[in-house]
Amino acid sequence: MPIQILPPQLANQIAAGEVVERPASVVKELVENALDAGASQIDIDIEKGGARLIRIRDNGCGIAQQELTLALSRHATSKISSLDDLEQILSLGFRGEALASISSVARLSLTSRPASQETAWQANAEGRDMQVQLRPAAHPVGSTVEVLDLFFNTPARRKFLRTEKTEFFHIDELIKRLALSRFDVGWTLSHNGQPVRRLKAASTPAQQLQRVASLCGRRFADSACWIENQHQQLKLWGWLLPPAAIERQQGCQYSYVNGRMMRDKLLNHAIRQAYGEHLSAEQQPVFVLYLELPATEVDVNVHPAKHEVRFHQARLVHDFVASALGNALSQLQPEALRASQN
Ligand code: ADP
Ligand code: MG
Repeated sequence: MPIQILPPQLANQIAAGEVVERPASVVKELVENALDAGASQIDIDIEKGGARLIRIRDNGCGIAQQELTLALSRHATSKISSLDDLEQILSLGFRGEALASISSVARLSLTSRPASQETAWQANAEGRDMQVQLRPAAHPVGSTVEVLDLFFNTPARRKFLRTEKTEFFHIDELIKRLALSRFDVGWTLSHNGQPVRRLKAASTPAQQLQRVASLCGRRFADSACWIENQHQQLKLWGWLLPPAAIERQQGCQYSYVNGRMMRDKLLNHAIRQAYGEHLSAEQQPVFVLYLELPATEVDVNVHPAKHEVRFHQARLVHDFVASALGNALSQLQPEALRASQN
């Protein structure tokens, strides 16, 4: 076969392989866009586990009509413009790939209105060349992205979709994690027309704890110890469950680095180490923890889905987290430290 440049749709479908694994990954990308747009309210409607419909509506800054076509193109982003920017990322997105990738494997429409425009416009990209069609639409300030029939044109991927229930479980789990990353944002989630979650924006500590209780369980909110610790430019805060309150079934294990949700080995190791021998082999730590450090101290461009980060001073971060949590646990009463027998 001669060497040839792939048509845009196919190139985007290949890129989609990295980030669009299942409906929940689409939801993650779209919600992160809404958060980057400064939304204070995000409404998510799902049908058939996301295989039929994923609709995300936000009241963020919107996209101007003349930028809608670009928004759907690959490598188009408003979030970085130089390598310097890449080294100190404050936004959740920066790769300029999500909308292009998703629209190559589903029927995507993007409807948006910035405050400066009287009307909204809707954009779709279709076919091999991903030609963008624009038409006027009705929409308040903000954006709605609708994703229909995910993987309709990539049967190999579609085959990997699990049951509606399983896919929705992953979406709900994701929304819990995201809702805990931004207490100041209001959220709704519905599945097949039924409301599943409604979280009002939480500003006071009591309202925040209320959100923690509704997402991680009343038991967690009642028994967790509050963590707040700072060492030079490193800051750690959140909630950690004392060993005695940990049950066999797994609870929340949510960690965030500069507001970004993570599954980070180094943090997990530090947390486990803090519990030390108070945790039996079959028990898992339960926590909602937020690590904050200067953006220049972490590299977020490690993984396309951004599940991992690289810390420039990994040892320092690890030891800070382990000792901050270890100290908090060591101040508990002996009863709270005893590994539970249930
Ligand atoms: P990235 O988030 O990496 O920049 P995306 O493909 O996710 O790439 O989005 C491309 C661009 O479209 C973004 O940089 C942003 O300017 C714009 N955009 C996407 N979603 C929204 C939204 N919900 N509100 C406002 N702008 C958006
Ligand atoms: Mg994005």
